[in-house]
Amino acid sequence: MEQDLLTWLNGRTFHHACVTLGIGDDAAILAPRPGFETIVTTDMLMDRVDFLWGTHDPALIGRKCLAVNLSDLAAMAAKPFAAFVSLALPRSMSFEDAQRLMQGILELAKEFQVELAGGDTNTHDGPLVVNVVAMGETPHGRAWLRSGAKPGDRLVVTGPLGGSLKAKQFSFSPRVREALQWRELAEVHAAIDISDGFCLDLSRLLSASGCGALVREVDIPISDDAFAMSSAGSGKTPLEHALGDGEDFELILALPPSVARILIDHAQHNGLQVRDVGVVTQSNEILLTKASGEVEPLPAIGYLHRLST
Ligand SMILES: [Mg+2]
Repeated sequence: MEQDLLTWLNGRTFHHACVTLGIGDDAAILAPRPGFETIVTTDMLMDRVDFLWGTHDPALIGRKCLAVNLSDLAAMAAKPFAAFVSLALPRSMSFEDAQRLMQGILELAKEFQVELAGGDTNTHDGPLVVNVVAMGETPHGRAWLRSGAKPGDRLVVTGPLGGSLKAKQFSFSPRVREALQWRELAEVHAAIDISDGFCLDLSRLLSASGCGALVREVDIPISDDAFAMSSAGSGKTPLEHALGDGEDFELILALPPSVARILIDHAQHNGLQVRDVGVVTQSNEILLTKASGEVEPLPAIGYLHRLST
């Protein structure tokens, strides 16, 4: 299968100038631009954890496997340029399905001008596992980290949250273009992408920054799918979906108030729903101002990856 896939891939990937030598040799050669740093991320997605093989379209599965990695690069304000894809394919998988999986990856890679620069393919008796390594670049010292939030910073979220299980987990567009624009427009102190849930990922950003926050419940952007899942009997309120569902792949940014205003206006102008949801505080608590005016600890809900169940 590997040789057939390589033959099929030949000529189908976007070519990026930072990749001197791509697929076809023992290793790739990358030539980062002078004055830039290389940002590297990896994410491994597995059947029955991150997607359902046999239920979801293989092309959408492939797309998601790359998109989650591009979202991590967006959270660092990095411009993606190369990806490496390793597949553990079930023996029962047809060549056509493997092609379709790769097609989903290639299409998104082309959209974001990413070269598929290498990888590996194995077949085994287990389920489908896809590991992607993605690389991007930022001008030296300009990457956004989780650790830079300061008391007084506004917290903004780049889109509606919750209910991504319905569709958005496969259709979301990683916030790469927005992050690159905002990197030039505004002084962002800290950033993270929402993979495991707003509350959990916000707590990660704040704990890396040594800060707390006061979040306003009425300002949490709730997606239509969060409302739909709730009214279909999920057992959660729309707000609970928005706070804890995960796989929204929106960004949480911490930035000075004047800058937050500029960014929100810019986003609105471009048809994007960026919302100011609260403020970074000096305490180490994350608090939620309820619609009623009461203040209580923000529930620490989200998706935790466990070693055993
Ligand atoms: Mg992340």
